[in-house]
Amino acid sequence: MPGGMSFELTEDQELIRKSVRELASKFDDHYWMEKDLAHEFPREFYDAIAKGGWLGMTIPEEYGGHGLGITEATLLLEEVSRSGAAMNGASAIHLSIFGMQPVVKHGSDELKAETLPRIVNGDLHVCFGVTEPGAGLDTSRITTFAKREGDKYRINGRKVWISKALESEKILLLTRTVPFDEVTKKTDGMTLFLTDLDPDHVDIRPIKKMGRNAVSSNEVFIDDLMVPVEHRVGEEGKGFKYILDGLNPERMLIAAEALGIGRVALEKAVKYGNERHVFNRPIGMNQGLQFPLADSLARLDAAELVLRKATWLYDNGKPCGREANTAKYLCADAGFGAADRALQLHGGMGYSEEYHVSRYFRESRLMKIAPVSQEMILNFLGEHVLGLPRSY
Ligand SMILES: Cc1cc2nc3c(=O)[nH]c(=O)nc-3n(C[C@H](O)[C@H](O)[C@H](O)COP(=O)(O)OP(=O)(O)OC[C@H]3O[C@@H](n4cnc5c(N)ncnc54)[C@H](O)[C@@H]3O)c2cc1C
Repeated sequence: MPGGMSFELTEDQELIRKSVRELASKFDDHYWMEKDLAHEFPREFYDAIAKGGWLGMTIPEEYGGHGLGITEATLLLEEVSRSGAAMNGASAIHLSIFGMQPVVKHGSDELKAETLPRIVNGDLHVCFGVTEPGAGLDTSRITTFAKREGDKYRINGRKVWISKALESEKILLLTRTVPFDEVTKKTDGMTLFLTDLDPDHVDIRPIKKMGRNAVSSNEVFIDDLMVPVEHRVGEEGKGFKYILDGLNPERMLIAAEALGIGRVALEKAVKYGNERHVFNRPIGMNQGLQFPLADSLARLDAAELVLRKATWLYDNGKPCGREANTAKYLCADAGFGAADRALQLHGGMGYSEEYHVSRYFRESRLMKIAPVSQEMILNFLGEHVLGLPRSY
């Protein structure tokens, strides 16, 4: 339909949805509950996704991947999340699916050849190290420093919240190579590396957290880590720009994950609403419970449409900042809203682990905070779309 609007996925995209749904359904809610309670990485699930060839979805074909776009990647993560795997499932594979894009786009041929095929076959686990305790959302204030010494860099610093660091062999690490005070533009002077988490120089300590406990999030202390120049991604000083390129697709992936949780929460709520009888009637007959679910359905459907538009724009090489940010904002809100309402509808049982909605509630709450908070999304829309003065 050239020039017109189409709301249909292609046959291939439908096939991806269906295949991932089938694969993910082999790991039921009970599996995820157990992994979450035991704080255990979902290795069986990760291996099954790798065996199915899904980890290489967006990696170029020359490195063994399928070279697909963000639309397909969001479908995959939405289905994983929707299976009940929620954020535990999504975070186990999230970085392999799209997080290597800075390496794909800016890495040397050697670095790509060394790492990308191993991402595809599942052998190489990576984590992403941006956040620091002293910088918060103001990434320009990071202080982890990479000092050039001959053909190596000496890296010292501290990262926080680094997901999957405990299970990863390598880290995609954002550092400063010029101190903040010495750059003219505050986002200059940052350099990206893909390097090994050498246990002799990197101390990793898991953070006790509210949910998504099958995948660790960690404090990472880096002490005189010597990194060969070959592990640098692209040019020195351009690391922030490389990360920035990946922000919109990252927001879309998170949106898809939130959407998936919202959908599964709603399904569980409808089931329980029909089954559970109190005062001689199914509880779902009460408008006080039914209307919030219908409202959540409408919000999820609307949020999904913005997400589809955002992924379409990105895959067609068009600007998508407004849509990517809006999709993340609305999907995170709708996903959490649905999980909260599903929990409420389950009454006391909602608070138990048995019905899984409490897990969805905890995990969907995260999407309003990370990888970027709802407030920062509104800052973007206010400033860059509405044209209001920068508020911070
Ligand atoms: C479970 C989990 C996993 C994570 N995984 C990773 C990971 O793998 N790698 C990684 O690098 N990071 C990771 N993070 C970090 C995450 O990206 C940050 O927590 C997030 O970006 C928020 O930053 P902050 O925690 O430093 O909040 P802060 O910057 O301290 O902000 C605190 C609050 O203030 C608000 N705020 C700050 N400035 C403004 C402003 N100007 N206007 C309006 N509001 C403002 C924020 O929105 C937020 O609500 C993870 C976090 C969690 C919780």
